[in-house]
Amino acid sequence: MDITNEKFQDYAEQHTSPEDPLLQKINRDTYANFLYPRMLSGHLQGRMLSMLSKMIRPRFILEIGTYTGYSALCLAEGLQPDGKLTTIDINEELEGRTTASFAESLYSAMIDFRIGDAQEIIPQLDNQFDLVFIDADKENYSNYYELVLQKVNKGGYILADNVLWSGKVLNEPEKTDIETERLREFNKMITKDDRVENVLLPIRDGIMVIRKLV
Ligand code: SAH
Ligand code: CA
Repeated sequence: MDITNEKFQDYAEQHTSPEDPLLQKINRDTYANFLYPRMLSGHLQGRMLSMLSKMIRPRFILEIGTYTGYSALCLAEGLQPDGKLTTIDINEELEGRTTASFAESLYSAMIDFRIGDAQEIIPQLDNQFDLVFIDADKENYSNYYELVLQKVNKGGYILADNVLWSGKVLNEPEKTDIETERLREFNKMITKDDRVENVLLPIRDGIMVIRKLV
């Protein structure tokens, strides 16, 4: 998953604020009990999400792809005191443990956890967002982007994770799986879209930072 050299990754983690005990526990518990634990954001990316959220100071956050709640809790650290984070996951097997982790956190009253298909749930959400984190099925990133852009305030942000897809988005002709293709299209589409400005941060698996201009 990480495209950066492992030594630099370790050095960066050693020189980054630590995870708090609850995040550490979720991290360990995910590796012990869940399929695909590498999907969890982890220490370095988690601190990056927290820092970005604290810089943005959002009132309303939307996350698409909750998994075990790690990134949601990192993003919630930047919420305004009267803020709310809505997070969506299609996998109902996550519900018990993830709800319990949220309940243990400082942010339990501020988190609205929805189980279901994000493409069905997003149109039902009635508030506008200051920050959106797209981290669900990679084939649908462009669909999520179009669905959420209209719900993002002018000057608001969308972060899209895994846009380098372990490096497969580079134009290697043999890498033609659907997720890689769709992520390549997504990255191109965002860069051409006049409604936004964007920067691709090549940390971990690549995070596209998008700011809505209009
Ligand atoms: N954001 C988490 C990791 C998310 S992993 C973190 O950084 O720690 C991706 C998640 O997207 C999985 O839990 C998967 O169940 C969810 N997902 C996949 N397709 C989805 C869909 N159509 N709607 C909502 N969630 C979806
Ligand atoms: Ca991810």
